[in-house]
Amino acid sequence: MKKQWYYSDFFVIIIIQFLIELGLIFINFDLLSAYNSIKKQYNIISTINPLALIYKNTLNLVSAGLFLDFILLILTLSAFILAVRFKDNIFNNNNYLENAALTDSLTGLYNRRYFDSFYENIFAQSYRYDIPHSLIMCDIDYFKKINDTYGHDKGDIVLKEVSDVLKNNIRKSDIAVRFGGEEFIVCLPSTDIANAVDVARKIKQMISKIRTKDIKKVTVSMGVAFYKKEFGNESKDMLKHLDNLLYEAKNRGRNRIISGDHQGNIIEVEENPWADE
Ligand code: GH3
Ligand code: MG
Ligand code: MG
Repeated sequence: MKKQWYYSDFFVIIIIQFLIELGLIFINFDLLSAYNSIKKQYNIISTINPLALIYKNTLNLVSAGLFLDFILLILTLSAFILAVRFKDNIFNNNNYLENAALTDSLTGLYNRRYFDSFYENIFAQSYRYDIPHSLIMCDIDYFKKINDTYGHDKGDIVLKEVSDVLKNNIRKSDIAVRFGGEEFIVCLPSTDIANAVDVARKIKQMISKIRTKDIKKVTVSMGVAFYKKEFGNESKDMLKHLDNLLYEAKNRGRNRIISGDHQGNIIEVEENPWADE
């Protein structure tokens, strides 16, 4: 969530109050110095001039006013500081709750809920403005075996490591999502198949380098799907297509990347088959 200056009305009121109080202080100071110069000039206090009483009372009122102004000024400033802190706390809590609702607590990646709305948007824009986009689906191979052999905690470490690779190898405009248990999606807006395959290869290579104290080999299977307007206007078709590509990668023996488009072209990626296009 973007930090909004949503308490600006409150801020304006405080500033006006602050300026009024400063003004009052100056006026009261002026009155005091005017009184003092009159007192000096005519030595009023020492006379029995009836005006002397008025001047004396004025002096008392002005001094009391000045004192009150200072107190009000301090109270205003304290109220302002407290209010800003209070609002900031609300803002931080909102941020925290919002993050918790949209991200996965173990990996810090976006969750499926966030992906669903993000992808609907990307897909709609892609279709409307005829801008291509790509999706990468990535599933850890034989992850159940990792859990069974080394324990769930070690499995969690692998999930975090894989997630870090995803986060660190995509652009700011892309998002990495924990789609299910050990299944991830990277959404690459405005990206053609050649670039998406390059990203997938890099990710796969980085994942192959993951080492923990016990686990020396982690591999993934990947599907890379590309979308162009002529492939239709149903985002669920694209997701089905992506799922099929991943299934094909598993089916062909895992630890590989399968890319394709909606026209049924399925290509197993060793080198990037689309690189020269
Ligand atoms: P395949 O190569 O076909 O993908 O086999 P697989 O073993 O990776 O797939 P399978 O679907 O059989 O098992 C996935 C396992 O992932 C089962 C589940 O217990 C585990 N898993 C899901 N979420 C978590 C999690 O948050 N932490 C850990 N440690 N394991 C998880
Ligand atoms: Mg798996
Ligand atoms: Mg799976």
